[in-house]
Amino acid sequence: MREGIVATAAVLVCLCTAGGAHAQAPAPLKGPAGASHSKVLVVGVDGARWDLVRRAMAEGRAPNLARLGREGVAGPTLLPYTPPAALTISEVGWSTIAAGVGPAKHGVSGFMLNKDPGQATKNGYVDFLTRAERVRPALSTFLASDWANIGRAENGGPIFGTGIDARHALAAEDTVDSYNRGDAEVAALSARYLRRGDPDAGFVYLGAVDETAHLVGSATPDYRNSIDLADKRLGVLVNAIRDRATYGLERWTVIVTTDHGQQDLASPSPFSHGGPSELERTSFMFAAGPGVARGSSRVPGVVDVAPTVLHQLGLAVQPGWNLDGRSFVAGGPPPARPAARVRLRSRRPALELVAEAASRAPALASVRLRLPRGVSLRSGARARVNGRRVGRSRLRVARHGLRITLPPGARRLLVRVPLRRMPRRPPRTVAAAIAEAGDAALDRRIAVRVRR
Ligand SMILES: [Zn+2]
Repeated sequence: MREGIVATAAVLVCLCTAGGAHAQAPAPLKGPAGASHSKVLVVGVDGARWDLVRRAMAEGRAPNLARLGREGVAGPTLLPYTPPAALTISEVGWSTIAAGVGPAKHGVSGFMLNKDPGQATKNGYVDFLTRAERVRPALSTFLASDWANIGRAENGGPIFGTGIDARHALAAEDTVDSYNRGDAEVAALSARYLRRGDPDAGFVYLGAVDETAHLVGSATPDYRNSIDLADKRLGVLVNAIRDRATYGLERWTVIVTTDHGQQDLASPSPFSHGGPSELERTSFMFAAGPGVARGSSRVPGVVDVAPTVLHQLGLAVQPGWNLDGRSFVAGGPPPARPAARVRLRSRRPALELVAEAASRAPALASVRLRLPRGVSLRSGARARVNGRRVGRSRLRVARHGLRITLPPGARRLLVRVPLRRMPRRPPRTVAAAIAEAGDAALDRRIAVRVRR
């Protein structure tokens, strides 16, 4: 990211902006309710070396990145440019990732050392969140970052524009400590918003890894620790997503990338990156989500992030946008989750469950219901799958629960179970776990209707 050569100016800016921001509790992120069941989080870890990220995973120090890799794709990717055409520094890297085009189009070469005016936007390109807002304003977007150029009108930024619904845009000072505090704040605010709010797409930027490379060196224990810390912060974000009350109804894509690598230096240097070496030109991509090929050997490039985010939000990439990358998820946008409803019938008391796979979605694999006290089942359950009766061996009925294992190709399930008696106060929702073929079961609540 930041080149040390401009450090003096950056510190002056920081003294009058972010300096006071840490003194009081930061305002929580706040934005409108989302409009999409398909949601995307992109995490940018500035200046992270792939070789050391891979080592951290192998040594068990980066479990969250390792998990993303297991669930989707992970691997190195070379930046699509090299000096002297464009430098391997942050204003170039993040402009490329945000806009989905390389320097030949966005026109940010790095020669102004992170002061190029109109980063990412000067030739009419925009970041993927702004693009999403323009195409579908109802989408709820957010940004959280601690490098000025990403979110503030400073040094030629912001790379991520002002049309984004909710933003926490810090300018950390040029110290490792300030970036660590900034990253912690960015992660905490984003996690809180991901857990309790309803954003559809967001970009979270973490700057401490690059700052550590500049001020300590990337061939040091401090730098390795900074990668471990970035992984922990990623874990905070991903756990917040999984904690969402509506997680079982949503499809999330998570992407993690970096804007450049680092030279293998054990001492401080403002020029720890910027050059043409393979270490500096090596970025990486982690991605997991609906349609992302698991374990694919083809690692997407950094220009593919923007079109993939748009695709996963259900927005068609227009040829007129002239993007260099393309979505690394093929086919249509992510399908909806299975629909499910539960009815309690009071005459001849019975519970009825209907579950249907969404169109283009995988078939249903299993359904489990946990019933609250007061609703107790009797034997005599019947089930139909795709309109045909299924054998009792697929049904497990206990007093307060029900589990059905479905045959391959099940798209519609109907179950009827007699109740011992109609509960005096019928529950408003029941807990369920519905699994699609090839996927883990997702917990969710299903609304209950009562019929005579
Ligand atoms: Zn840097």
